[in-house]
Amino acid sequence: MIIVMQLEATQAQVDAVAGAIKEIGLDPLILPGEDRVAIGIPASLSPDQRESLESVLGGMEGINKITNTSRPYKLASLEFRRQRTSIKVKDIEIGPGHFHVIGGPCSIESEEQFMGAAQMVKESGARILRGGAFKPRTSPYSFQGLAVEGLKIMKSVGDATGLVTITEVMSSDMVSTVAEYTDILQIGARSMQNFPLLIEAGKSQRPVFLKRGPSATVDEFLLAAEYVLNQGNNNVILCERGVLPIDRAYTRNTLDLGVVPVLKEYSHLPVFVDPSHGTGVAKYVAPMAKASMVVGADGLMIEMHPNPKVALSDGSQALVPDQFTKLMSELTALANATGIQMG
Ligand code: PEP
Ligand code: MN
Repeated sequence: MIIVMQLEATQAQVDAVAGAIKEIGLDPLILPGEDRVAIGIPASLSPDQRESLESVLGGMEGINKITNTSRPYKLASLEFRRQRTSIKVKDIEIGPGHFHVIGGPCSIESEEQFMGAAQMVKESGARILRGGAFKPRTSPYSFQGLAVEGLKIMKSVGDATGLVTITEVMSSDMVSTVAEYTDILQIGARSMQNFPLLIEAGKSQRPVFLKRGPSATVDEFLLAAEYVLNQGNNNVILCERGVLPIDRAYTRNTLDLGVVPVLKEYSHLPVFVDPSHGTGVAKYVAPMAKASMVVGADGLMIEMHPNPKVALSDGSQALVPDQFTKLMSELTALANATGIQMG
């Protein structure tokens, strides 16, 4: 529920409405707007609560209108927060007016491999470096990542290059450790509904890059974001990375680019696209990356590797450095032609 106050409502009237909401046992959220204040109630209301609230508010002054929010997520919705979220990390901003490319290998394999990738990412103009230290692999026999050793490499390469870093955290008990070594916490597709992990990542107050689960609906995706936001952490970035395909013979997942304008319509959170996991095939990454920019994404996550043939994970979808550099210049040209700001 959102209570929109009148233009000329006084602070005392706003306080009175907030007080009445508290008396019913609910938490009011003051939403300052450009010209008027609104008061949101993020909880799902029971019919009884709704009825008593409506009767109390009916007699109060300074209210312009009361609207029932149409969606189950609240803090993630554009109805609730009408200003799009902008996230500052080190010297970059993620969100409106800034298109960012996150580049780097699927896994951190060694200091040499990761430093090599980082330098190429930096030279091509991208500002954010990715690399997995804890890898969620389908098989327990596949490479699982270098764990804390990988985090240490990430930190030293991030410090040496000045790039903003992002890496995945797979469990709630590792959030504080991973947060020591990286700027942005990635929550992987398989963990999208790991609620204790979402809550812990929320508490960390670190920017959270939340990947869409392979079969998650838009409501499920935004409700997962809601778990992080609900902890007072407003720094959430959504990432579409492909949903379960009907045909695995050609692509690994089906990149759902249609979800980008949908998420932008209903949520204020920045939306990224990962065409690497979305297609699973290196040669399809560039066309889908450019398409993502055109449909309104705020950025991309692209896997690249100095030598994909020897990559310990996801080599078949990794761009070689030249392909990554070429894609960056094509994206820059496309951005210039369409009034998008790179970086
Ligand atoms: C990754 O980014 O390397 C990864 C494992 O992605 P996802 O969680 O989208 O599968
Ligand atoms: Mn990967």
